[in-house]
Amino acid sequence: MIGLISATAAGAAARDRLAAAWPDRTRVYEGPVGDAVRRAFAECEQLVCFLATGATVRLLAPLLGDKHTDPGVVCVDEGGRFAVSLVGGHGGGANELARAVGDLLDAAPVVTTATDAADLPGLDTLGLPAEGAVAAVSRALLDGEPVALRAEVAWPLPPLPVADSTVTDSTVTDSLVADSGTYAIRVTDRLVEPDEREAVLRPPTLVVGVGASKGAPVAEVLGLVEDALRGAGLSPASVAELATVDAKAAEPGLVEAAARLGVPLVTYPAGELARVAVPNPSEAPLAAVGTPSVAEAAALVRGGELLVPKRKSAARPAMATCAVVRRPGRGRLAVVGLGPGARDLLTPRARAELRRASVLVGLDQYVDQIRDLLRPGTRVLESGLGAEEERARTAVAEARRGHAVALIGSGDAGVYAMASPALAEASDDIDVVGVPGVTAALAAGAILGAPLGHDHVSISLSDLHTPWDVIERRVRAAAGADLVVTFYNPRSRGRDWQLPKALAILAEHREPGTPVGVVRNASRADESSRVTTLAALDPATVDMMTVVTVGNTATRKIAGRMVTPRGYRWQDTRPQEPQESQEPRPPHQPQKPEEPK
Ligand code: SAH
Repeated sequence: MIGLISATAAGAAARDRLAAAWPDRTRVYEGPVGDAVRRAFAECEQLVCFLATGATVRLLAPLLGDKHTDPGVVCVDEGGRFAVSLVGGHGGGANELARAVGDLLDAAPVVTTATDAADLPGLDTLGLPAEGAVAAVSRALLDGEPVALRAEVAWPLPPLPVADSTVTDSTVTDSLVADSGTYAIRVTDRLVEPDEREAVLRPPTLVVGVGASKGAPVAEVLGLVEDALRGAGLSPASVAELATVDAKAAEPGLVEAAARLGVPLVTYPAGELARVAVPNPSEAPLAAVGTPSVAEAAALVRGGELLVPKRKSAARPAMATCAVVRRPGRGRLAVVGLGPGARDLLTPRARAELRRASVLVGLDQYVDQIRDLLRPGTRVLESGLGAEEERARTAVAEARRGHAVALIGSGDAGVYAMASPALAEASDDIDVVGVPGVTAALAAGAILGAPLGHDHVSISLSDLHTPWDVIERRVRAAAGADLVVTFYNPRSRGRDWQLPKALAILAEHREPGTPVGVVRNASRADESSRVTTLAALDPATVDMMTVVTVGNTATRKIAGRMVTPRGYRWQDTRPQEPQESQEPRPPHQPQKPEEPK
């Protein structure tokens, strides 16, 4: 919840705009401001104070505790010109909030956290628990001092401007790392003693399988888990979940142990656990819950390496068992469509994914299009035209190594682009995120008018990967079905007869005057477009930077724009429409609107 506090009429007006925009996320605190700030501080995760920074600082000072737990606070000035991230920039999310409030109120966000100003992700914002010399290493990154990244466990971190990066074995000795004498970021689930130049990031790699008899005390479960981790030299901060059998989902000792460790209790059906091969099966759980292993099987059921085999608690009789597994880190592959070219047609989500990735894979000309958006430290793997398969393989291989990878394509990356070859390579050991982009047909459609107002299809005329007779069959089908057709890859220097042939097939079913839209370099600096007709189109004016959209039998040119009527009955109810924009009205149809506009 975001608490809103104001003192003046202007402040209250801005406050009300925010409250109206975010009705479910905000709560207005009325009354004397001192009291309102204190109540909001105690009750909310974030505050927006429509007060001077000085006044806010004085009110907050006695309330401040710890930057990890304090609410994030944003101040908006009386004139509504600035949204200042005052405290809790990272932990409290105040930097993000200042940007969002700024967007909404048309105020400039003011962010003073060093890592944000330098466009670096703060080590405490990576979504992983951070320990050790976090401040010193962040400062070294900011100052451009060499910082080494030593990952013992692969994890898809965002880009960090590190001097060298190694994936080491988890058996490497501490002294080896410390000896290097430089600043370092270690990514490990092991208990380590970081020196004053090391920050440690804790990836959630450990799964603790637990079993418990009815009524097992939480202290016994927790003690067993903590002992097992300590004994194996593993950090509780890297525990991702406790896992057990469905029948124990509500066992209080397990539920409470998970809560105290701050992780979910995940449960599996006994039948599923019974199929997991484990080193230490036994009779007792088989009789009680129907699987010869609970702790080991629940820890191993999603794969991984058994680090601590089943052990029992020291109490007599022992009421709890546990086992610890390290799951391999999962890489992350984002398949990102960049849109047709213009920067403001690149979606905010695409932009976020480009900044999230530490490895960027793409065609060189597309990389150039967005290079300025990348964070320092991003590894760019670019290649030339024609290397699609290789790009797809590279992207997947990098993700399999545990990296955060963005594979880019123009328009939508799933339309005649990289998504399918990449996903054909990928197995389920990586996470895949797709970000849709504005594909050329849509970008062109918006320029031409409304050519895609009814059923339409895209056909690529490139016979590089598809035999011409398949393409021709599809063109014929589209022609016969009266679909609006957008041709991608319509014509290149070596491929010049396909477009005339395809247009001739359409002309068998459509009038010579059927509107045809030709758009070259949609949304790019040298964009051009025209609306012509099937008979008048000169294929020589079409190249690989172009899409060609051929209307259906109802498409008309109206005021220079290409319009395909939706053909629903509501349109026919409108009186006095110019004849050319209407479809013939079907006889004896009710005139009731059928679909909202
Ligand atoms: N993934 C892309 C399409 C790749 S196929 C997308 O979704 O848009 C390449 C073809 O797309 C080009 O030959 C051209 O026909 C078309 N194309 C891509 N971008 C274009 C643009 N900005 N203007 C016009 N056509 C474009």
